[in-house]
Amino acid sequence: MVANWKMNPDRQTDAVALALAVADGVVGIDAEVVLCPPTIWLLAVAAAVGPRIGIGAQTVNPAPRGAFTGETSATMLEGLAAYVIVGHSERRGAGETDGLVARQAVSVRAHGMVPIVAVGETADERTAGHTLAVVFRQLGTVLDVLAADHGPLVVAYEPVWAIGSGTPATGADAQAVAAALRGELRSHARGLADDSRILYGGSVTAANAHEFFGQLDIDGALVGGASLEAETFIALARAAG
Ligand code: PEP
Repeated sequence: MVANWKMNPDRQTDAVALALAVADGVVGIDAEVVLCPPTIWLLAVAAAVGPRIGIGAQTVNPAPRGAFTGETSATMLEGLAAYVIVGHSERRGAGETDGLVARQAVSVRAHGMVPIVAVGETADERTAGHTLAVVFRQLGTVLDVLAADHGPLVVAYEPVWAIGSGTPATGADAQAVAAALRGELRSHARGLADDSRILYGGSVTAANAHEFFGQLDIDGALVGGASLEAETFIALARAAG
């Protein structure tokens, strides 16, 4: 269960309080929980929750260092985060390309972290019947550049039209894409399909989560809005467990 807090909360005290409430609330729940706070709160959140909860970053710059104003490298994140989201549609929408996402995934892996590779089609692409072509292209660009022994990935299927819209995919549609993505992983490297995790993301709430968690190829969820309320996210983690 991955919480993508995006550019929330405003204050460090609120970020730490939310993280501690989640950490306390998920004790005994059989689900791996990862919080992805804004970069500026990463250190405080990681220090507050210790090893009880996984920590993820929301993005990374693939360059090792240098003149990249405002950016954060994988070297800087190493030791602080275990996961890094790459290719979130909000960043693709701001100009990040498949090639950049692939380089991000490589740098994340090279520093011992696990990339959470977000893929998903827009509403127009879906209407045109291009969903699988789009997600295969997005995932394929990443798989093509990772070393053969790169280890498991997390792939998050997030239809762009479902993110923050209040209109999630149906469980059956999400499962169909997740199964196809697992097939892609399987054809890339033996074992990768079994070891990697496939998440669904897009307007997941406590009310609709069961639709997704009951699906064979959906191992969890990437949650935005509903992760900002501790009780809701804890309920989601419980449902996933
Ligand atoms: C997301 O941004 O990754 C996301 C899934 O957002 P939401 O849950 O708010 O749709």
